[in-house]
Amino acid sequence: MAFTPFKKKVWLSSPTMHGDELNYMKLAYDTNWMSTLGENLNQIEQLLCEKIGCNCAVPLASGTSALHMAVKLADVRRGDRVFCTDMTFGATVNPVVYEGGEPVFIDTERDTWNMSPEALEKAFELYPDVKVVILAHLYGTPAKIDEIQAVCDKYGAILIEDAAESLGASYKGKQTGNFGKYSAISFNGNKIITGSAGGMLLTNDFEAADRVRKWSTQSRDVAPWYQHTEIGYNYRMSNVIAGVVRGQLPYLEEHIAQKKAIYERYRDGLKGLPVQMNPFDKENSVPNYWLSCLLIDKEAMCRQARTECEADFWEEPGKSCPTEILTKLARLNAEGRPIWKPMHMQPIYSDKEFVSVGEDVGADIFARGLCLPSDNKMTIDTQDKIIEIVRSCFD
Ligand SMILES: *Cc1c(COP(=O)(O)O)cnc(C)c1O
Repeated sequence: MAFTPFKKKVWLSSPTMHGDELNYMKLAYDTNWMSTLGENLNQIEQLLCEKIGCNCAVPLASGTSALHMAVKLADVRRGDRVFCTDMTFGATVNPVVYEGGEPVFIDTERDTWNMSPEALEKAFELYPDVKVVILAHLYGTPAKIDEIQAVCDKYGAILIEDAAESLGASYKGKQTGNFGKYSAISFNGNKIITGSAGGMLLTNDFEAADRVRKWSTQSRDVAPWYQHTEIGYNYRMSNVIAGVVRGQLPYLEEHIAQKKAIYERYRDGLKGLPVQMNPFDKENSVPNYWLSCLLIDKEAMCRQARTECEADFWEEPGKSCPTEILTKLARLNAEGRPIWKPMHMQPIYSDKEFVSVGEDVGADIFARGLCLPSDNKMTIDTQDKIIEIVRSCFD
């Protein structure tokens, strides 16, 4: 079947503004609180604490800087091993390396596409002295938090939660970002809500929050002059950015509802194809449905070849592969994306350790999975057409 390209590009996930954002940005301007102090910042601190149910929320320049601060709070030192989610965005683990730590990548489980508790247990059997675990919730789907926490408790390690993709998702009634001793969220442009940029460190520990406030404003001591006893960072969020976040926050639940509807329309529309949607634990968790993803059955994969930076595929009747679907979507002006390439497959981390139980689950999901266009402004007609395009790949 021949499709006509979409006139307007269909995005994977793009910012969705509502109007209030501009008002709060203007408030910063009109009151001249154009720097890293002001009412927008105060408000989002309070609103995030209420939403997540934590004591402290420190606004920062990005989710990455929040993770960096979390790694510093966890006292990761040169040469320390840190157990990290493997199938995630690089920002989850880069901060470990900023501090001279050694990430050890923990393979993925199939039920939620997050860190495998079994592989984590195996990693602790190898290295019982590891003190820090960094857990991401991929695509807005909560990980098996209780199982992971139990392994951490057994070995006396602390949990850092990377909730950058999962704001608003919950596990056993509690928001993600409230399980880690230190947690990070992100307001990057593609996330469920955005500040155009920005992030936050979340914790229940007031003293830890104060340390981050100090570190992130260049570690200025209380003194008549610029006095420093610690290394500082310029990581604070601007009050203008906080205005965008403040304007977006009331729409978080609306965005989640839209993303959920997108996920369910894909699930229903793709019925009968040899594929499954990105799975989650229906009993214990409520995802934020940030991205809708597909996993193609093994038997239904056509031949696909990937080098470090290129991909190719060979069409076969009744079969398809991520490269075929993504290529065809791109030709028609729609943006999908491969599954985040696991960290243990990244050239920059090829010398790091990777712990799996049996087969390499991350590599398998990367080979057979893809993210579908998941923009919450996508119309039903547009999504129906995307479903037809995906279906046609299996003709
Ligand atoms: C986006 C993202 C980050 C980084 O957040 P930024 O605000 O872009 O720095 C970290 N971890 C994960 C899993 C992400 O998706």
